[in-house]
Amino acid sequence: MSNNNENKKDPLLCHWADQMADKIIREKGDLDSYTCASGITPSGTVHLGNFREIITVDLVVRALRDRGKKVRFIYSWDDYDVFRKVPANMPDPEILEKYLRYPITMVPDTTSRNENYARHHEVDIEQQLPRVGIAPEFLYQASRYRANRYAEGMKLAMQNRDVIKGCLNEYRDDAHKMKDSDVYWPVAIFCGKCNKDTTEITDYDGEYGITYKCECGHCETADIRTFKGAKLGWRVDWPMRWNEEKVVFEPGGKDHISPGGSYDTAKLVSKRIYGWDAPVTMRYDFVNLKGVPGKMSSSKGKVIALPDALDVYQAEVLRYLFAGTRPNTEFAISFDMDVLKVYEDYDKTERIVYGVDKAKSEDHFNKEKRIYMLSQIDGKIPETMPYQITIRMLSTLLQIYSGDADKVIASLGDVKPEQEERLRRRIACAWFWIQHSAPDCAPEFCFALRKEGTKAKLPQDMAKAVAKVLSDVVPKIDTFQIDKDCQEAIYAVATELGLDAKALFTALYQALIGKDQGPRLGSFMRIIGKDKLEKLLGSVEGVSEEELKKAASNKKLTPAEIDKLPLAERFSRRVILKVSKIEKVEQHPGGSFLYILTLNTGDAEPRQIVSSIVQFYKPEELLNRNIVLVYNLKPANFRGVRSNGMLLAASEGGADDHDTCEVIFADDFEPGTILEPEGFDVPADVAEMCFVKPEKFAEMNLSTKDGFVEVEGKKIGSNGKFITVEKYKNGAIH
Ligand SMILES: [Zn+2]
Repeated sequence: MSNNNENKKDPLLCHWADQMADKIIREKGDLDSYTCASGITPSGTVHLGNFREIITVDLVVRALRDRGKKVRFIYSWDDYDVFRKVPANMPDPEILEKYLRYPITMVPDTTSRNENYARHHEVDIEQQLPRVGIAPEFLYQASRYRANRYAEGMKLAMQNRDVIKGCLNEYRDDAHKMKDSDVYWPVAIFCGKCNKDTTEITDYDGEYGITYKCECGHCETADIRTFKGAKLGWRVDWPMRWNEEKVVFEPGGKDHISPGGSYDTAKLVSKRIYGWDAPVTMRYDFVNLKGVPGKMSSSKGKVIALPDALDVYQAEVLRYLFAGTRPNTEFAISFDMDVLKVYEDYDKTERIVYGVDKAKSEDHFNKEKRIYMLSQIDGKIPETMPYQITIRMLSTLLQIYSGDADKVIASLGDVKPEQEERLRRRIACAWFWIQHSAPDCAPEFCFALRKEGTKAKLPQDMAKAVAKVLSDVVPKIDTFQIDKDCQEAIYAVATELGLDAKALFTALYQALIGKDQGPRLGSFMRIIGKDKLEKLLGSVEGVSEEELKKAASNKKLTPAEIDKLPLAERFSRRVILKVSKIEKVEQHPGGSFLYILTLNTGDAEPRQIVSSIVQFYKPEELLNRNIVLVYNLKPANFRGVRSNGMLLAASEGGADDHDTCEVIFADDFEPGTILEPEGFDVPADVAEMCFVKPEKFAEMNLSTKDGFVEVEGKKIGSNGKFITVEKYKNGAIH
């Protein structure tokens, strides 16, 4: 790869990282070694935006090395920075809070996994970087400062603080310039007694002695050759270390690399104080996230980091995403349907590199090959072309084989040993995607084959048609050359029986996966294979319309599917109304309008609810009466007392009418009876039903009509018997 002849440029080295490498060599000349730097403060989870800086440097480092240059890639952990605020996603924030203003390296790791808080976040990224082929030399600034390595650099800054002041002022407008009379110290002090940076420098002896006082009352004169708590402010720290490490390249975020930004002032300080020409830089933009699945981001303040991206993207594909985008453009890492497209783009590039697909031109070929090369973990193009299979196809296979990678690979039949490691990583990503992302962004991709021992219930004519598919199509399944052959054989069955082909497809999906739709049927059936098809299509039962309807009401639905149901059915699927007997009535100690009611719900344990009906009912009017309980209402606290449900009451006016109240009594029903809208059975999965939030319950719009309690015009009751009200016969329920 190396090309030392500057005049004869290798046309392959045409990536933006190559252009940057050329620029570095042009500006810095021929050096024995080129130091490229990246750095970050490990004050919290190192997120994907931070990763963009690391990989930007890595790509330039590789470009320099591909020019035969020796490169030192340093990664600086700025772990002597001050702990300014507790990030939202950290455990034990109340403990961490106590360490604000400490250097982050002295903040404890509340998980007890590592020596300290900073180290915890450092380890997280240091362990992950090898997965994407990045191996920098890590420098730890806390230990360097505490070992007094920078004493001379600090002395120089202290002695030339007026020059630095001038550098900082250079890009400020008059209103923000420091005045001659303003005191400025380039060094900050962590107190030798309390460790906080709540200090103020009061004197400097012109050499190594700095006198400071702290808010804690401590004051001393410290010698920066032995004192551990001194540190340069970062606008000076940055250029001091450029000189220290002889850095020739370091990119910066767009907040730093802007006209008059911190890079510009650091450049002046570097030259004027330390005599070092600032490194070549480039600006990198933010990384956005798209379609992060709920399961990934549900915890408070969850930060999406490198391992999260590697859950969905195989390392080469993630590198490809970054390598394929110029650093100064904002882009999004997607976790939704776009994932499929990203893999397809990567595979397309791969096919061009291996000559399977043709490039548009030689330039195009070089461009694709270079990006592909830079995307490889070790920078080398594998001898054998990697096994290509789409995430969509893998998702189908994985669901058929319940996530078993061995079975998936065996089913493919033509995977070479040298292709397996990479394919397994892709399989792991596909499995993660189908389990975590697809339920949100592509529920139609998700399925599970019907369990053995269960029978699919279909209308009589459809059961017969499926049986015909079993006898006519399945035996030939291995002889079909393409998916379309299979598809057409199914059409032929429908035509022969005079059935709607679409209805037959639906019936087949029902027989295979218990859903109305699924992956494209022709290919799907061929993938499932003869043996499994025989079992699945062989266990189909023709039933009457009525029984079918009943079966449908017992079917498990996803929350999204339930949301689409008509109101009464949604009510039946979401809300459990249970007749309960009031066994105890107590006044709430903290609320004069609240009762604490102890209920017998038919369960082994009594239930407690809080109800604001004191002004309407005396305790003796409630005791031993049966009421209607919203059994699965999300529990809530009322003035310190837990309420596990709510009793139903009618009122005259709208839902916010608090002046009228009629508790709905159900003395004709046994405690424990579950009430449903007319025409609905108690759902089979009633025991697994989730809590319903009060606002969701309110959306159900229960009301009274002609003395009955109704939802969407359907009376509430059980076994043909309905609950009634006496007073507010045409009112609201809440
Ligand atoms: Zn102190």
